[in-house]
Amino acid sequence: MKKQLALYCHWPYCLSKCPYCDFYSMPCRSWDEAAFLKRYRAEIEALPAKREITSIFFGGGTPSLMPLTLTEGILNAVYTRFSVAQDVEISMEANPDAIDQEKMMVFKKLGINRLSLGVQALSDEALHFLGRRHTAETARRRIKEASAVFDIVSIDLMYARPGQTVRMWEAELKEALSFNLPHYSLYQLTIEDKTPFARRSLTMPDDETARDLFLRTINQMDRAGVPLYEVSNFARPGFECRHNQAYWRSQDYAGIGPSAHGRIGLTATENPRDVAAWLAGERFETELTPLEKEEERLLMGLRQREGIDATGISPTAVQSVLQKGWIVRKGNRICPTNEGLLMLNSLILDLWPQDPA
Ligand code: SF4
Repeated sequence: MKKQLALYCHWPYCLSKCPYCDFYSMPCRSWDEAAFLKRYRAEIEALPAKREITSIFFGGGTPSLMPLTLTEGILNAVYTRFSVAQDVEISMEANPDAIDQEKMMVFKKLGINRLSLGVQALSDEALHFLGRRHTAETARRRIKEASAVFDIVSIDLMYARPGQTVRMWEAELKEALSFNLPHYSLYQLTIEDKTPFARRSLTMPDDETARDLFLRTINQMDRAGVPLYEVSNFARPGFECRHNQAYWRSQDYAGIGPSAHGRIGLTATENPRDVAAWLAGERFETELTPLEKEEERLLMGLRQREGIDATGISPTAVQSVLQKGWIVRKGNRICPTNEGLLMLNSLILDLWPQDPA
């Protein structure tokens, strides 16, 4: 059987820049499509061919702004170079104001079978605060349109916003659940360095409120049959995002496009956060040590409810986090509890591998 590979493709442009965002993205409405396609193709050609592609993820930025001919060109290059799994998952991120139903139908014809909509909030006031361009009404309409076109639709929502009470969030989540989607990405708003939000004096929810919001979110989603499977991701059973699971399970993935990362075995690749440098062919490659690989396995794997295999982890450290109530054991796996997810950084540190040297 061929080794499997997940493929991420980064598109760097958006209609405008949101004040909380630290992704490599910028407002832009024109680009050299031929140069982009040439570089994406060259990156695909450089990947090890004897692989089966199990997922493709167009992320960004706002990849639904990508010209359809470019999306098609990238997919053609992938299908020409690789064998592609019959049940391949092909995701596209989109913003409610950067896609319409006609475009959704073309994406579907191109093979995209999972749409992830950056809704972020279902209130105009919150959307305005977050610097989003769409209204709540547009978001609602796009969710319905997307559900009519795609079998798998996911929405992103951001909670723990300044001034948001538990009651307000529960009502918003209730409305989100009324769309009956198979997948939800629910993120707590965090203030990233060097973003416009970091320069404002925002009153964020205190730790107690953030904790309450997280636990109530898990309960509300559980009751609706959409349990948490990763610290910010919830899915009906069988609808987990397989592409993101490749990251969290430390499986091989390749990244093409500016700022994209890849991991194939111990080889880590990183593309420059600079379109011109990326178009010029710049790319960084390093070999991870087995210890660094193990550190990544913990960092990524413990975000998931399914946790990680305990092999190689100090039994004393495992016993200690078990006693703290941060994990449960399932066979040889250690799986974080809700408390463990709340204490994720401390949990990871407690289990951190020791350098034998
Ligand atoms: S649309 Fe998404 S990627 Fe673009 S600036 Fe806003 S949050 Fe960042």
